[in-house]
Amino acid sequence: MNAQQAADECRQWARHLRLRRMVGAYLDGELTGADGPRVAAHLAVCWMCSGYAETLRLIKQSLRASPGRTPPDLAETRLRRFAERLTR
Ligand SMILES: [Zn+2]
Repeated sequence: MNAQQAADECRQWARHLRLRRMVGAYLDGELTGADGPRVAAHLAVCWMCSGYAETLRLIKQSLRASPGRTPPDLAETRLRRFAERLTR
């Protein structure tokens, strides 16, 4: 891999990470303007981010279904571990 390829890959990766910061808000329907469609379009073509979104959705769902059963920080820790595995 040459330097240009490495730089391209890094830029792409930065796009994924930027998008993932919006995924939580997207799932909550809190994104405004062009952000919602942008996230939706990316999730449609990116299996890594759509997997991440799906996991986040399930966690949110289980938190809603059983309030108080799973401490939010525990779910967040699990999610962070999952995200770390993905980014490794
Ligand atoms: Zn992605």
